[in-house]
Amino acid sequence: MTERLLTVSADRLEDVKRNYFEITERIAKAAADSKRTADDITFLAATKTVEPEIINYAVSLGLRYIGENKVQELLSKYEYYDLEHCDLQFIGHLQTNKVRQIVGKVSMIQSVDSLKLANEISKQSVKNGITTDVLIEVNIGREENKSGVMPEMLDELIAQTASLDNIRVKGLMTVPPICEKKVDICKFFDKMYHLFIDISDKTLDNVDMDFLSMGMSDDY
Ligand SMILES: *Cc1c(COP(=O)(O)O)cnc(C)c1O
Repeated sequence: MTERLLTVSADRLEDVKRNYFEITERIAKAAADSKRTADDITFLAATKTVEPEIINYAVSLGLRYIGENKVQELLSKYEYYDLEHCDLQFIGHLQTNKVRQIVGKVSMIQSVDSLKLANEISKQSVKNGITTDVLIEVNIGREENKSGVMPEMLDELIAQTASLDNIRVKGLMTVPPICEKKVDICKFFDKMYHLFIDISDKTLDNVDMDFLSMGMSDDY
């Protein structure tokens, strides 16, 4: 990890600290309310647009998972992340021609929505002698111009992806439509949960439904 000299205001760090512990507490409470433990929940901070110094500060507080959504930004920040203490994932839309730039640098790609993309991740992982974990992204709101596989194509994409070398399917991801009402967004979460359970029940080879990654901060 390379150190940079950048002055971060004390106020900003105070904000990060307050937010970090507030979220940690809410997770613990939500886990208790649903009779689970906080360990069942992975707290990943979407760190796009955030400077590495701030990210590393959150890591020093205990944050263990960070996610970037743009290849260029990830690469420009890469040498500064404290990757001895946190795990870097890719959460944004990924173009096939950029896959080789991030395979080996990220522990998970959350946004696989086509066989073409899965094929390239497999190919680059074989080349690097590693296995890459992926989530399959679902377009649960069937929105045009949005990433993600349509729900009815999900089983097929999972089966195809799981059959490739050096790639492991670890769950599902979605960014649901923006809804004004909480009940509306809950419908999408509910649909995703059912897809997730259905696939888990099938116990497919090379598929572990460990993660269901849904929504943004406001949804939460
Ligand atoms: C940015 C982002 C999030 C988190 O959104 P915030 O509301 O900024 O916390 C979640 N998922 C994806 C794919 C993102 O790019």
